[in-house]
Amino acid sequence: MERFMNVDVVAQVAQWLEPRDLLRFAVINKTTWNFFLRMKAIWRKSRKDFSLRNQMVCQLPECPPDLTEIQYTSMIFGPPSKCSVKLCRSDKTTVFLEARLQLCNECLVNTYEQPL
Ligand SMILES: [Zn+2]
Repeated sequence: MERFMNVDVVAQVAQWLEPRDLLRFAVINKTTWNFFLRMKAIWRKSRKDFSLRNQMVCQLPECPPDLTEIQYTSMIFGPPSKCSVKLCRSDKTTVFLEARLQLCNECLVNTYEQPL
């Protein structure tokens, strides 16, 4: 990225982007991905500002140590992903951050909810 833009300028501008826009920026190419992978503070600021702008009752928790800032932001703000259950093709999923899963309703009921 250094060949095309001053990284300090990119970082200054990027810190004002919303999480979804940061994700779009990060996935442009490998260079932007690697750049934003290192910019943890930008992701934190973006999520915090989003919470404040949208008057969320509570702040989003900090990024868990086993996820990158990009993975964490993508789970919360990214486009719907395929269901985490192998062989399921549904993309109408709900994120279960604690379990690091995205599940469709059918798989949630059939696989993870125990009958009483
Ligand atoms: Zn499923």
